[in-house]
Parts: sequence; C-alpha cells; structure tokens
Amino acid sequence: MQVNEAFPFDQTRLQTDVMPGEDDALAGQCLLVLGAGPKAIALAAKRYVLAKLGYKVPRLVIVDSKGVVAYWSGHSGFTDGRQLLGTRPEKDVGYPYASTSWGDDDENQEIAGEMFLLSWHSYLVHMGKYLDWVDRGRTRPTHREWSCYLQWVATRIEFDVVMAEVRTIVPSEDGKRWQLVCRSTVDDAALTVEGDGLVITGPGTPITIEGQPASHPRVLDGGSFWLHVEEFARLRVTESAPLHIGVVGTGETAAAIVIALLSECKEKAFIEVISPNGVLYSRDEGFEENRLFSDPDARLARLRGGHKHELSWLRMNERDRREFLRRTDRGVFSVHAMEEVNRAENVRSVMGTARRMQVTEDCVFVDIEYDGEVERDTYDYVIVAVGFNALWFTKLLDERAYEQLTGATGSFDRATTERTIGEDLSIRGFEPRLHLPMLSGVAQGPGFPNLSCLGLLSDRILASYAARG
Ligand SMILES: Cc1cc2nc3c(=O)[nH]c(=O)nc-3n(C[C@H](O)[C@H](O)[C@H](O)COP(=O)(O)OP(=O)(O)OC[C@H]3O[C@@H](n4cnc5c(N)ncnc54)[C@H](O)[C@@H]3O)c2cc1C
Repeated sequence: MQVNEAFPFDQTRLQTDVMPGEDDALAGQCLLVLGAGPKAIALAAKRYVLAKLGYKVPRLVIVDSKGVVAYWSGHSGFTDGRQLLGTRPEKDVGYPYASTSWGDDDENQEIAGEMFLLSWHSYLVHMGKYLDWVDRGRTRPTHREWSCYLQWVATRIEFDVVMAEVRTIVPSEDGKRWQLVCRSTVDDAALTVEGDGLVITGPGTPITIEGQPASHPRVLDGGSFWLHVEEFARLRVTESAPLHIGVVGTGETAAAIVIALLSECKEKAFIEVISPNGVLYSRDEGFEENRLFSDPDARLARLRGGHKHELSWLRMNERDRREFLRRTDRGVFSVHAMEEVNRAENVRSVMGTARRMQVTEDCVFVDIEYDGEVERDTYDYVIVAVGFNALWFTKLLDERAYEQLTGATGSFDRATTERTIGEDLSIRGFEPRLHLPMLSGVAQGPGFPNLSCLGLLSDRILASYAARG
C-alpha cells in the first residue's frame, strides 16, 4: 500500500460546537471520548453498527485537539509513521468479531458480520490490495498505513468529533454527568461538552527521570523522538566522530527507537540500552499468551477432547497477572524488533536503572544504579523511553472530581486504580462513569490498554449505554 492511497477523513465533517443531548432521539444518553484514536474509532464503529441493526445507542462525541488518528500519522510525535505496527492488522476495530453482549448467538453474529465490513480485510478489498497483501505474506502495515485504514473506517460511519483541547474535566452541578471544558483548536473559542460517561484514551504523557529537562536538543522522549528522526540522519553525515546514544527503557517504544536509530545512523552510532535487568528480553507469543489478549474471560473458549479447564484472566491472581504483563507487554522487545537488534553489532545493553541525568551543551551524564552501586555514563544524546503516565488525565480533573475519585479508588495511584476497574472498564461504583481502558489490563484483561481486542473493548463500554430497540 502506498501512503497517498489514503482515505483522509474529511475535516469539514468535524464539529466545534456540539452540545450533546439537544437532538438525541436515541437512548437519551451521551458518551464522551477524549481522543480520536483507534479506541474511539472502534467505539464509533460498534455504535454505528448497533444503531443500523435497530439497537438504542447513546450519542457519541469524540474530542481531539489534533484530528482523527493523529498520533499514528507520523505528524504529531509518538511515531514517524514509518514504523511497523506491532500487533497484527487483523486485530482491527472489530476484533475478535465474537460479541456476547447483544442478545442470542444469531444477533451477535449479525453484529460481527456488519463489523466485518469495517475490517482490515474489507479495507484492503475496497482498495484493491487484498491479493497483494496475501501474496506478499500478510505483511504488517506501517503506522501511517494503519492510520489510513482507521480514517477509512471513520469515513464510513457517523459520529461527532469536536476539534478541541480538553483543558478541564468537571462533574456537572448535580454530579451526574461529565463536562469537558475545552478550547477549540479551530477558532480558539471556549466550549463545553457534556455527557453521561467519559472514556479516556491515549497512551498518556511520557514519564521522565530526575534532572531531565523539559526541552533540550540532546534529550528526547518516547513522544518527541519521532519529530527529530531526520536530525539523526543528518548527524551521520555531518559528525566525524562516532555518536554515543543512550536509550533508557526496555519496552516496545525503546525497541522502536533503537530500530529507527539503527536505520538513520547506521554504524555511526553506538547505542546503549539502559536496562534494569541488564538483559533485553523478547516477548512471549505462544497461543495461550495471545489468547488472553483476545479473550481474557474465556467466554469464547471451546473446550475440546478431554480438557476441562480453560485459561481465564479473571481466575489468575494479581501476582500472576502482573507477571504475565511483565513477560508479554511491559519491558519486552517484540520478536521482530529483537531480530533487528540481534543483527546489529553496535547495540548493547547496560545493566541498571537510570536514576538521574545532568545535561550540558555538549553531552548528557546519566547516573545508573545497579545492585546499590551508582555509575555515571556519558552520552552525546539520550532518549528516555521508560513508559507513559496513564494517569495523565488526573491533572485535568477539578478539585472536587479529584477528591471524589481519590475516595473511590483508595488513593488514585496506579496500582489501586487498576484494581477498581470493573467489567465496563470504568471505576467500579463511581458515577458518572469514567472508563479507563489504559488502566484496565490488570483487572479485566491485558488487551484493553492497547489494540489487541478493540471489538471487545467497545462491547464492554457500550453495554452500559446501549440496548436492544
Ligand atoms: C510508537 C508506538 C507504537 C505502538 N504500537 C502499538 C501496536 O502495534 N499495537 C498496540 O496494541 N499498541 C501499540 N502502541 C500502544 C498504543 O499507544 C495504544 O495502543 C494506543 O494508546 C491506542 O490508541 P488510543 O485510541 O488509546 O489513543 P491514541 O491513538 O493514542 O490517541 C489519543 C488521542 O488523544 C488526543 N489528546 C490527548 N490529550 C488531549 C487533550 N487534552 N484534549 C484533546 N485531545 C487530546 C491526541 O491528540 C490523540 O489523537 C504503540 C504506542 C507507541 C507510542
């Protein structure tokens, strides 16, 4: 597929002054989504299909400051658009095409059939690229190709997008609804959208280490690196001495950065990956691991032969769930990334945890701690890729909402909040509903924070708002 074969989402369809509830003839409810990424598109697609089949659905209002699937295009950081999608593209907006939420088997199958018209396969057929893709070995798309697919889905369904930056999240006067206080990115006007529930999406803001400057030409992070990739290609030509580059982190973001650096700097760079365990581990990808991402509560399991026990996320204890996430999701390179790294003689890992950095005009010092000992290493450039803060939205909450949520979760830190997530991916027992898919991994299943089961994610969230007509 070529990038110029995209189906760019028609920006004239974007709305800036939506007041949900005004013309809502459906279920009378309104669901707000912060962020127009894949999760929002998956929710909008399922809502569209349910409405088409006669179900009562809520109004859906998506608010994004940058546009539809902006983070995947390569123009807004997080990727340069040329990186390969880590998950298989078949894990698209409808995956796993096996709803159990909407009535009997026939009804659920009808929904799956309609959703399949919005699948990656249907997109390729529509583009005349299906046989090409199969004959090339079902290749992984780049992030930009993936964003083209999602934009294609967006052109085939109906939903409202408000082009605005969310500045504050407040409960309504009666405490029953959410209000998003926004600033339009079209005309800078102030506007407020209101709804019965709120879904927060996005990876969150990059986590920093002590001493890391907010902005410095020698220090980048998992979000900003991608806006500077071409500068590394230039350095390969302009610098005479080898470049020493430190990458802090051992997850997929760090892996993607290492691969991009290898591609841009070639043998000019010596890349050190600072790893708490001292070793770079690759992801486990056996059937049982993959299955827990697609079907965490084993609702779709079909026991065969003499087998009586089906693996279920909900039956695993918290220790085993966190161990699973450590081995399959967090702090591991994908098999594909590891193959690239294995071939590169100029990539090494450094044992330890980067505790703090000190930056000068010419270099970056990093204090690395291992087994109680601290050593200082010096780099020309450092990229900090130690993860994203999934609780980033808490800084948008007003004081009242923050206090109420602190009460509901215990302390509103990551671990306690993760434990309170219920079946519809919202904080259990809290009204108005606040859905936090990126914090749902531990309680509900490892696929909810990422792209591994977008169809299941949309079923779980919409089931609280939609019903048979
Ligand atoms: C380089 C990279 C590669 C990845 N590859 C994969 C992969 O292959 N498979 C996988 O499963 N996961 C992958 N991930 C993880 C991925 O980030 C999550 O799966 C992703 O968060 C899913 O998209 P989303 O819908 O949650 O939001 P996103 O696509 O992240 O969109 C969030 C949106 O929120 C908007 N926004 C943020 N703040 C505001 C605000 N205050 N006001 C208004 N709008 C706002 C942004 O403009 C953005 O468009 C990758 C992550 C990175 C960084």
